[in-house]
Amino acid sequence: MAPALIAALAASLAAAAGAAPPPGAASSGAPPPPREPYVAPADGSLRDTIIIGRPVRHAAARDSSVTSVVMLGTGTPNADPERSGPCVAVVVRGHAYLVDAGPGLVRRAAAAAKNGIAALAPQRLGIVFITHLHSDHTVGLPDLMLTPWVLERHDPLEVYGPPGVRNMTTHLLAAYSEDIRVRTEGLEPSHNDGWQVHAHENTAGVVYRDSNVTVTAFAVPHANWTYSFGYRFDTPDRAIVISGDTRPSDAVVAACHECDILVHEVYSAERVASRPPEWQRYHAGAHTSTTELAAIATRAKPRLLVLYHQLFWGTDDAGLVREVRRGYDGAVVSARDLEVYR
Ligand SMILES: [Zn+2]
Ligand SMILES: [Zn+2]
Repeated sequence: MAPALIAALAASLAAAAGAAPPPGAASSGAPPPPREPYVAPADGSLRDTIIIGRPVRHAAARDSSVTSVVMLGTGTPNADPERSGPCVAVVVRGHAYLVDAGPGLVRRAAAAAKNGIAALAPQRLGIVFITHLHSDHTVGLPDLMLTPWVLERHDPLEVYGPPGVRNMTTHLLAAYSEDIRVRTEGLEPSHNDGWQVHAHENTAGVVYRDSNVTVTAFAVPHANWTYSFGYRFDTPDRAIVISGDTRPSDAVVAACHECDILVHEVYSAERVASRPPEWQRYHAGAHTSTTELAAIATRAKPRLLVLYHQLFWGTDDAGLVREVRRGYDGAVVSARDLEVYR
């Protein structure tokens, strides 16, 4: 291993294991690792696995010794059958940490497990960080609470999220209380802990830490939500930032600060003009256009910018990437469900 790479690894290990860093602090002490060239896929054949530095196929995606980002859902409230609701999995050493619970996530996780990422087998989904309580980000929560339990998850689901998330999980359990009673009191073999939920209400700052990750929440501005968060994951070998839903925000720039992967929501600056004026007003206060994201990414300097939660309005992945590239010369890709990034 090259000395520079060892130094970078040691620095990120120390940052991940050390005292609670503010967003961005982990990469501000030591010089950033040398940038590897990003090789964009020349055709569709590598869409399933896109790697910083070099593209590899699924065999390498199975390597659980490093961090992977798996797009379990890139969608929006639009019921696009090709795109499940928002859910990003950060997989570190065979453990999956989910961000958001959009509709369809458990089945997408099962598909990723079939592709060789064992950490995403449904019964192994045990922890989720919710960005905000908009329904498109939480309609999959009862699925995540109950389906893995039915499939033999033994432990309670750990849910981190903004104030209000405990109320949501409590009411969801109440809504399914009869299902839980029948499954636990009847003849179905079941474990009596797997349906339970430990809800943790975040404020900004470090919200979770174990031997794989330090997770830092940062507040982002999103329409009239009182609480909306992005999350930064510091792992032994990567810094990953997920924007959640946000209009352009310095908080994202500070949280990324030359991070490895910035997963950011986006809408088409070209096509927004086709929307009714009242919706244009909403999107300007709630979300980030391609033009605005180009400016954010230029300042944040991620090694790879990944677009998700895309609002296309008639354009496509290539169109969004073209729009972003007008103002940003770094590596950028518009994600589809089940793609993997490192
Ligand atoms: Zn959303
Ligand atoms: Zn939202």
